[in-house]
Amino acid sequence: MIFYGWQKISLIEWPNKISTVLFVSGCNFKCPFCYNRDLVLNYDRLPKISQRKILNFLKLRQRLIDGVIITGGEPLSGVAKTKNYFNDLFNFIKKVKKLGLKIGIETNGSDPEILEKLIKEKLIDFVAMDIKAPLNAKYEELTGVKVDLNKIKKSIEIIKNSEIDYEFRTTVAPLLSEKDILEIAEELKTAKKYALQVFQPVDTLIEPSLAKMRFLNRKELEEISKKIKDNFQKFEIRG
Ligand code: SF4
Repeated sequence: MIFYGWQKISLIEWPNKISTVLFVSGCNFKCPFCYNRDLVLNYDRLPKISQRKILNFLKLRQRLIDGVIITGGEPLSGVAKTKNYFNDLFNFIKKVKKLGLKIGIETNGSDPEILEKLIKEKLIDFVAMDIKAPLNAKYEELTGVKVDLNKIKKSIEIIKNSEIDYEFRTTVAPLLSEKDILEIAEELKTAKKYALQVFQPVDTLIEPSLAKMRFLNRKELEEISKKIKDNFQKFEIRG
């Protein structure tokens, strides 16, 4: 199992936990507002990090770290991964769990089968799923590719019906309006947790022109939140 990025300690990626964050390469989506252009498009240029190095680090810090977040890119798509990627991923997760650490996955929800398998086999303790847009034609605009919305809906249901800790998140990219957010909040109604993330116009976007476009700021999101926060047990705005 090869990783292409590693944040050794994070206090924010997994809410209320100390985690180490591992980045896999490649993604089946090409969201124009994606902050990780190199991980999605240019991962060949990035240094590779072996699982051995990571496991050695974790063995020495079992008591200091609560868990490992696997993110990307997209950890649950086979795009740009090795032939045995899913075997390698499952084996790596089992090794981490043997150390007594928890596993969290950040996913775009495009592969409900793998997600369900991970949950059924009790290999993940937390999942954060990105909801890119309302579940209509806008999803393709926000992901830059054709999307099977039934798969996205299935992932949402699997997560909602699971017993693991979870959250849904939306980065409020320039292409999203208040109406879109209200629609998403209706579609996710009754979910345990939903977070809106304020867009950051950084210089590593897949589509750099978005950084110059108008987007909803925190104050505007706070106003919108008054209309949607009661749909969820927990709701927050980040950034
Ligand atoms: S933001 Fe979009 S393109 Fe970037 S890693 Fe996530 S799903 Fe893939």
